[in-house]
Amino acid sequence: MEQIQDNLAVIQRRIHAAAASATRSPDTIRLIAVSKHMPPESLSRAMAAGQFCFGENYLQEAVQKQAQLHDERIEWHFIGHLQTNKAKQAVGKFSWLHTMDNLKLADKLAAAMAGTGLILNVLLQVNVANDPGKSGIPARNVLHFAEALLEAEHRAIRLCGLMTIGRQHANKDERRADFASLRRLSELCGDHLGKEYFTELSMGMSDDFELAIQEGSTMLRIGSAIFGARPPVTPKA
Ligand SMILES: *Cc1c(COP(=O)(O)O)cnc(C)c1O
Repeated sequence: MEQIQDNLAVIQRRIHAAAASATRSPDTIRLIAVSKHMPPESLSRAMAAGQFCFGENYLQEAVQKQAQLHDERIEWHFIGHLQTNKAKQAVGKFSWLHTMDNLKLADKLAAAMAGTGLILNVLLQVNVANDPGKSGIPARNVLHFAEALLEAEHRAIRLCGLMTIGRQHANKDERRADFASLRRLSELCGDHLGKEYFTELSMGMSDDFELAIQEGSTMLRIGSAIFGARPPVTPKA
């Protein structure tokens, strides 16, 4: 458990060093501690070390943890796949959704949030490498998707940028190329639709976050390097 605080200190140092070498301010980089499959005690440990942004992948699991951790300072990020039929259950549980990739989900969320005064910050998940079988919007469709989302004028949904998950078996050069592609795509979308909708780039995980910082990441999603290896999960029936 001490380990979590030590790990966080190490990650913070590495973020600062990577930012410095990219002549960026570390203040422009948000660390999201990915706590999927970790018990609430692990999150409490991280909080004791000043970490209040958490990323969760599974709605049920996240909601259970939230019920045990009441702290106004926590900022919850949903980084898993959100099924359209679960949209309603997610309302008010997260301030960020990193995985928007279908307009029907946006419609459902907006409808469920109407009148609540809540705002959900949304990132579009991009399948940068056009990996078949991977979720996310194919890179070539992102501009069109973003345009359609903005045209829908959902008051409760604030488009803030793009997100990608690195290819699993990619080497360093391939990862860097993917991160750079996401950044260029974000610039292209910003030029066409307004830069204010594309301020965030969610990219970089435990084993490639320094590369992501070099390529302009503003949100790092780091799990195992903070919390250690995730406990095995028993598959759902
Ligand atoms: C699990 C997960 C992470 C964190 O992965 P680590 O390799 O443990 O840092 C980041 N992003 C998403 C979408 C994830 O599902």
